[in-house]
Amino acid sequence: MREKLVYVFGGGRADGDATMKNLLGGKGANLAEMARLGVPVPPGFTITTEVCTHFYARGRAYPDGLKAEVAAALTGVEREMKMGFGDPDRPLLVSIRSGARKSMPGMMETVLNVGLCSRTIPGLVKLTDNPRFVYDAYRRLIMMYSDVVMEKAAGVEPAEGQGIRQQLDRMLDGVKKARGCASDADLSEADLQDLVKRFKAKIVEVLGQEFPDDAQEQLWGAIGAVFSSWNGRRAISYRRIEGIPHEWGTAVTVQAMVFGNMGDSSATGVAFSRNPATGENRFYGEWLPNAQGEDVVAGIRTPNPLNDATKSEQNRHLPSLESAMTEVYARLDGIRGELEAHFHDMQDIEFTIQDGRLWMLQCRVGKRTGTAALNIAMDMLEEKLIDEREVVRRVTPAQLDELLHPIVDPQAEKSAQPLASGLPAGPGGATGQIVFTAAAAVEWAAQGKPVILVREETNPEDVEGMRAAEGILTARGGMTSHAALVARGWGKCCIVGCAGLHVDVHARTLTVDGKVLKEGDPVTLNGTRGRVYAGRLGMVSAAENPRFVAFMQIVDRHRRLGVRTNAETPEDALKARGFGAEGIGLFRTEHMFYGKDSEKPLFLLRRMIVSASVAERRAALDELYPYVKKDIKDTMAVMDGLPVTFRLLDPPLHEFVPKGAKERASLAKALGITAAELDQRAEALHESNPMMGHRGVRLGVTYPEITEMQVRAILESAVELTREGKRALPEIMVPVVATVTELDHQKVVVDRVHAEVCAAHGVAKVDFLYGTMIEIPRAALTADHIARTAQFFSFGTNDLTQMTFGFSRDDIGGFVPAYVEQKLLPVDPFQMLDVDGVGQLVRMACELGRRTNPHLHLGICGEHGGEPNSVAFCHRVGLDYVSCSPFRVPIARLAAAQAALEDAAG
Ligand code: PEP
Ligand code: MG
Repeated sequence: MREKLVYVFGGGRADGDATMKNLLGGKGANLAEMARLGVPVPPGFTITTEVCTHFYARGRAYPDGLKAEVAAALTGVEREMKMGFGDPDRPLLVSIRSGARKSMPGMMETVLNVGLCSRTIPGLVKLTDNPRFVYDAYRRLIMMYSDVVMEKAAGVEPAEGQGIRQQLDRMLDGVKKARGCASDADLSEADLQDLVKRFKAKIVEVLGQEFPDDAQEQLWGAIGAVFSSWNGRRAISYRRIEGIPHEWGTAVTVQAMVFGNMGDSSATGVAFSRNPATGENRFYGEWLPNAQGEDVVAGIRTPNPLNDATKSEQNRHLPSLESAMTEVYARLDGIRGELEAHFHDMQDIEFTIQDGRLWMLQCRVGKRTGTAALNIAMDMLEEKLIDEREVVRRVTPAQLDELLHPIVDPQAEKSAQPLASGLPAGPGGATGQIVFTAAAAVEWAAQGKPVILVREETNPEDVEGMRAAEGILTARGGMTSHAALVARGWGKCCIVGCAGLHVDVHARTLTVDGKVLKEGDPVTLNGTRGRVYAGRLGMVSAAENPRFVAFMQIVDRHRRLGVRTNAETPEDALKARGFGAEGIGLFRTEHMFYGKDSEKPLFLLRRMIVSASVAERRAALDELYPYVKKDIKDTMAVMDGLPVTFRLLDPPLHEFVPKGAKERASLAKALGITAAELDQRAEALHESNPMMGHRGVRLGVTYPEITEMQVRAILESAVELTREGKRALPEIMVPVVATVTELDHQKVVVDRVHAEVCAAHGVAKVDFLYGTMIEIPRAALTADHIARTAQFFSFGTNDLTQMTFGFSRDDIGGFVPAYVEQKLLPVDPFQMLDVDGVGQLVRMACELGRRTNPHLHLGICGEHGGEPNSVAFCHRVGLDYVSCSPFRVPIARLAAAQAALEDAAG
């Protein structure tokens, strides 16, 4: 611990500065910086976060010397203000506020007007000639202090609704009612004097203690209470949600009070140096005449607009600060410019005007929407306030995500109560009427009704309905469940694993918390946050910003990692190219059996699956061939000149066995067998553990003709495209590989088909790469062997996570939320790559693989490829590219650039 415990600021000087946020908290550090800049800040001092840490480590005791340092600092403030703390003639009042490294808005406590007591009240009345003001300040002190210091910090736990603050509030309301006053400001001095007396009696009655009538006692009571509020329940849970370490502690800032409630030439307000919603370069904010800061935030009165240019419907009739106090406004606008020029970012500021004199109480980097983040960054680049690197850092991946999807109107959402919450599987917002079957979704959508498809969980048979729906909601499943994968691939709003939902498909009802919704009832989903609302909430579209393209060009200049997409149709491939994809990293062949126009190929696939002999299977495959080839060729044509990684078939067989009697009957007919025999064959396909069953390369080993058909489709498409003047760059990828022998086995088939295609088309060779997915731990552990055959690795981190944890990816809804809640896991490992475990396997496989083949090409195609933290890991580990769904391509590009910049900064 440093020797210095207290840092003073004010009068154009300060001990600290803006770089000292860890020690002085954001608020203390920025107040010091403003003081240094010569901006008018009321003088004060900050007690460091180290004192907070000491306070908790030593059973709530202060370090030696703190009292003396505080006394000395207070003397400095007194000198600056020409007033004395506890002085009967010119009494100084102070505010005591918290301030952590990272802002924790509203989570910790504040006490204002400290220093008012029977010794100082008469002096302040004389000094201000405003007894009403003095008693109003005193009643505010009593209300805050009794709540924060005497009750909360003392650990008193009142019954619901019986907190001291609530009891005093009720007394205040009673007086207002009796007097017929609408606002606190209408109470007279006599009312307030009487109220203050009754408040004090109430405190003795409820808390069994006198309200302290001594300035020093109030000061230390408030300092202790603010330190204690670091460990208040609200603050602890906020830190848990935001990932703020408990060890950081808060600083405490003691500052001379200035008053915005001293009459009509006084005021208080909050402002942003630019519009935080749109980013528009206009001074934007709100103020209230004759008020204290808490009045603006509390929303008791409608605040006035800061200037005429930013008036809204709600405040158009109210005078702006610009017109009411022209000179003060001009000074404030000047400070706005100084702060932006100094901090090079949009500032959120708090100010108070006391008797026509302006004081700055706080400044910090302002929070903003995705649209504002983009516009402000690009504007500041043009204004030469920041450079390109900083532009890249200024927009978070989450803000970019927000820009790419229509979202639930944040205003509407603020006042709505969620019905349930689940995993945020597909971003953006959606609203529509609920339906419970895919068929209903298709039918209603065809009639022009927007629908939300609600299912227990989805399977491939639901895909048509999923496409037709505005959004998808499931009671079960995790972030890599079928619904989540499909929805994300389409950029569709989706919430999965919403455990509180009970779906009754037959009754067509959805029950949650005893509330029943029927088919046709409207709901709204916020897929970015995983929230479900009853009823319709408005949507806003933040996209179509012309600056998006310019911003992404800058981003691309700063990244090393390539970004590909997971796509399997020409439409998705085209969309992904539009988003800047540099190839396809995963073409899942089996996706052609879902959704639009899938009926015939799905039938043929099913026929192939239930075939009992090679001949039967070949017949089905021959018929399937044109469908497979068309998809492959059309997609490669769109990706002209860019690589396309085709994964050999990896269907979860059980999902494709038809369940309906009608489908089974037509399948039996096509095969010329009886329904009973078909049932028998289907039964034989049943697996206890299909995720670890007959899938991936195992299928190619047992039925090489399947591999053969696909490889032929890929290579023939390549030959034809080359003839048509296009550049095809196919890569053949074998899934679910555990041993190099599997890869060698499939290579024999691939080489044979290659030779046949060359002979048939009269070409010497077809260029392609042959490689594998690394999605089984054994493959990672033996990557040096596998790299003898594979020319590339693509990490399938969905399965790799499943196999490494032994967590079934479709069943995690039942337990992973509890793991995260109880902090056994920091996050769902299917959403963010588990660097310590799964990441080790990735790192090791990269090293082993490159040891065998230094030119080995490395990528990732699991869902993590579009998650910013995981992308940063992929950059660090030296992958060549990440691959993700089309809508996440810009996010991955940004995350890759940010990782590269972080790397460069060391
Ligand atoms: C994976 O396992 O990471 C992968 C991309 O394959 P799939 O999700 O299709 O199993
Ligand atoms: Mg897989």
